[in-house]
Amino acid sequence: MTVSEIFKTMEYGTAPESAAEAKAWLDRHDSTFGLFIGGGFTKPGEDRFDSMNPANGETIASLTEATSKDVDAAVKAAAKAQKHWAALGGAGRARHLYALARLIQKHARLFAVLESLDNGKPIRESRDADIPLAARHFYHHAGWAQLMEREMAGYEPIGVAGQVIPWNFPFLMLAWKIAPALAMGNTVVLKPAEYTSLTALLFADICIEAGLPEGVVNIVTGHGPVGAMIAEHADVAKVAFTGSTRVGRNLREQTAGTGKKLTLELGGKSPFIVFDDADIDSAIEGIVDAIWFNQGQVCCAGSRLLVQESIAERFHDRLRQRMRTLRVGDPLDKSIDLGCIVDPVQHQRISEMVALGVDEGADMFREETSLPENGCYYPPTLLIGVEAGDTLAQEEIFGPVLVSMNFRTPAEAVQLANNSRYGLAASVWTENINLALGVAPQIKAGVIWINCTNQFDAAAGFGGYRESGFGREGGREGLYEYVKPSYLKSLKDAAPVTPHSLTEGGGEGIDRTAKMYIGGKQARPDSGYSQPIATPKGKLISHVGIGNRKDIRNAVEAATAASGGWAKASGHNKAQILYYIGENLAARRGEFETRLREMTGVSSKVAAGEVEAAINRFFTYAAWADKYDGQVHSVPLRGVTVAMKEPVGVMGIACPDEAPLLGFVSLVAPAIAMGNTVVAVPSQAHPLSATDLYQVFDTSDLPGGVVNIVTGPRDELTKTLADHYGVDGVWYHGTQDGSAMVERAAAANLKRTWVNYGKAIDWTDPAQSEGEEYLRHATEVKNVWIPYGE
Ligand code: NAD
Repeated sequence: MTVSEIFKTMEYGTAPESAAEAKAWLDRHDSTFGLFIGGGFTKPGEDRFDSMNPANGETIASLTEATSKDVDAAVKAAAKAQKHWAALGGAGRARHLYALARLIQKHARLFAVLESLDNGKPIRESRDADIPLAARHFYHHAGWAQLMEREMAGYEPIGVAGQVIPWNFPFLMLAWKIAPALAMGNTVVLKPAEYTSLTALLFADICIEAGLPEGVVNIVTGHGPVGAMIAEHADVAKVAFTGSTRVGRNLREQTAGTGKKLTLELGGKSPFIVFDDADIDSAIEGIVDAIWFNQGQVCCAGSRLLVQESIAERFHDRLRQRMRTLRVGDPLDKSIDLGCIVDPVQHQRISEMVALGVDEGADMFREETSLPENGCYYPPTLLIGVEAGDTLAQEEIFGPVLVSMNFRTPAEAVQLANNSRYGLAASVWTENINLALGVAPQIKAGVIWINCTNQFDAAAGFGGYRESGFGREGGREGLYEYVKPSYLKSLKDAAPVTPHSLTEGGGEGIDRTAKMYIGGKQARPDSGYSQPIATPKGKLISHVGIGNRKDIRNAVEAATAASGGWAKASGHNKAQILYYIGENLAARRGEFETRLREMTGVSSKVAAGEVEAAINRFFTYAAWADKYDGQVHSVPLRGVTVAMKEPVGVMGIACPDEAPLLGFVSLVAPAIAMGNTVVAVPSQAHPLSATDLYQVFDTSDLPGGVVNIVTGPRDELTKTLADHYGVDGVWYHGTQDGSAMVERAAAANLKRTWVNYGKAIDWTDPAQSEGEEYLRHATEVKNVWIPYGE
């Protein structure tokens, strides 16, 4: 068709991007690749698989399926390189990261074309979003490397990071993983997804060109089992994964108890909420971006449209109208809106899910006529009349399929938005700033976009709540995923502490049983049983209840009931209560000292020191309660991106046996200072200092249910907490086995865990036992993007 003919019909012409450079690069490698290990490519392996262009089904390259020997060689290369890489110092590493960033920019077009060929995403997106954002990630983290010694004082690199990434943003996910890891002094073994490994292999070439030291970056290709081998390798100290919730859960179980640090970026079913006063034209364009960007294969895709009932009909009409103008076509055509689905396997999965939705009663709209004849294409699809409990309202489809539901009030919108096991992102559309900023904190998700969607930047953290995973990528918050506190390496194994046994005749003169504390009231154990707590000489001090599942469930219920109110209480309010607790504890210092002496046999001096430190700790967290601020991130947006610190929610805390009062206070105080409610299991051997505290709480205006105390067998009670779907986070100080148990059990709903792997913290040393590390574990970071201006 000639240009003048096109003008007559007003049809779109094609604007194809040339694939010549990408083909030339593939030719240079004979379209056959080995693995990138220790600074060079290995010979292509015997076991290979094809990478295919989803636009035409043609094979583009033959890739090596890594063996366990290969993975071992890659990890060894990374481990060998790591010391030297860390020793280069922040400024030295920054130079390398800048060099990588510059070379990505230099080869940006090649990266973009290769990405679109391999993945099927429109060149417009790979060229304007994926690749520039990846370069930006390297620049931004070059800066963090430069600043590490000062800004991350007290932290050090973890070691070798094993990183496994998905196929939806192959190169961008590589950048999200590699840039922060290298900046913080780690080395990496990365596995790209089996469908889309090519830009990772091009990056390997870039590493050579940039003169990156050998072994700092290693890239191994292959299917899922190769990912599992990386995660399993004994010398991998950190596992970072993006992909499905199913595999994320496997990895949580697989790494449980190993001490490997883990971050999971998993699926989502993110709401896109349109209020009746929204700018409708903008909201419609927002939807195009939210669900049809990258064919909807985006973990944070706005795949659940929630529209206020009063405008729903009109809004759906406008949306259908807009859908008719969307162009699906060759990914290398610069003027198309949607390209291909990554692979026929995914295409089939989407088709099956949509058929299920229609079976369940949804009303489907789509324009089928506009699809190219060959290739892995799926039309933009809208399903109306979906109910909140339907499969399609709950399950991730990971395709260009939008499901729509209506709501009447803002409260109902929030309820629907949160009716999901996921919590990755949400978009909120309204011209009413009060409404938008009122709704944002109520939605359980790591990223909230106000009147915008799919905004990403290296300076702002990205990551989920709930089953969308844990950890953040980007921003200062993301750096902590690639460092560990320096004090960890000096910790010794915690010595087992056994309760003192009662000697014959030791029970004389005793008249009380310390109760548990649930919902602000003293509670008897459901079991009806109690156990004696004796002095080192075997004299009975008191009995404590032997708690069971039922007690834990009651305590979780009380903590959940108290959660909303306590989370909303101002920092100032929480500070007042914590000061008050500190003061009331100080007033009863003598009693607490005596209790410690009797129970543990420590000297008066040690007991006095522990009580004094516990008082001080309450004061410290009273001080922090209104000071652990969020941030406004410097992202390239005309607006503000606010990183808010929010409480994790309901937390289970298993306290150590060492320092039975100070250990308890050191864990519970930061948790409640940040707005969490807590079910605490005190020291099993020496629980009375904790049960004594209820009187202090009662006289200090601490609302009932904010702290609940259940005494009894620590690991059994903690297991119930770790299994409980209503508990959002578990901290555990006990044995190595107990730590493994907590991490394994937490896989079910991917709750946040923080465990001691059987190591003893010195609770009297503030460098280990108080401060921002505790506050960070007690909070989630939510990034709220708020554009402003006309
Ligand atoms: P996946 O989780 O199976 O794969 C992601 C990566 O993990 C790939 O590199 C894969 O090879 C690897 N992997 C697979 N099994 C593994 C194992 N047992 N141990 C370690 N690594 C393993 O995801 P997928 O097959 O690519 O897609 C399936 C679903 O995952 C999608 O439909 C979608 O719901 C979700 N998904 C989410 C994201 C995201 O960014 N959150 C990205 C892609 C896919």
